[in-house]
Amino acid sequence: MQSISLERQKELMLERHLQGRGIENREVLRAMIDVPREEFVPERLKKLSYKDIPLLIGYGQTISQPFTVAYSLEALNPKEDDTILDIGTGSGYQAAVLSLICKRVITIEIVPELVRSSRERLKRLGYMNVEVIEGNGYYGYEKYSPYDGIICAAATESLPEEWRKQVKDGGSIVYPKNSGVRQKLVRVTKEGNEMTEDILGDFSFVPLRR
Ligand code: SAH
Repeated sequence: MQSISLERQKELMLERHLQGRGIENREVLRAMIDVPREEFVPERLKKLSYKDIPLLIGYGQTISQPFTVAYSLEALNPKEDDTILDIGTGSGYQAAVLSLICKRVITIEIVPELVRSSRERLKRLGYMNVEVIEGNGYYGYEKYSPYDGIICAAATESLPEEWRKQVKDGGSIVYPKNSGVRQKLVRVTKEGNEMTEDILGDFSFVPLRR
């Protein structure tokens, strides 16, 4: 049996898993078509790159499934001139997608081996507006704050205080919040001293380390 090419699988990802499940943001869709997801997964899993499943990338971590990345980014709604903090670099895939939408991406990862591999990969693939930081994203990353938006790919019990401080007024934070065995993706938007919270839906994410 002839296997379907990665290009065709990518089209199917777009039609079925992204547009087919309601993703409409054109910038997000365009960026997800541009980024070669197969470069972000281990060699032996390349043929599964465009399936709508999370894949193991080593050190007990995963690259989130395409729908989850697209949904989170659509909720964040990044703009061309934005600087975004991406917490939980993992493979660097979500940071790469973001980098094609906004001006600058600061991405922070706690596992040193993943910092090294994602930094090398992003550089090799030419994503020059992404900076990979090694550190604990629970505390955000103060150096380049305030950010236009913050997005996190690991689940926490509640919104860390530092994230709230490090986002601009009017900016949003999209992150998974623990809720029983699953997680709810949540968007909080800063309006002066107030934070408004939208609960977006159920997802599975790895825990945010403390
Ligand atoms: N966005 C990633 C998905 C990574 S999964 C991608 O596109 O591939 C979540 C990542 O968060 C894991 O790599 C994990 O090591 C990292 N992580 C967990 N706790 C963290 C913390 N406190 N600070 C930074 N990264 C963390």
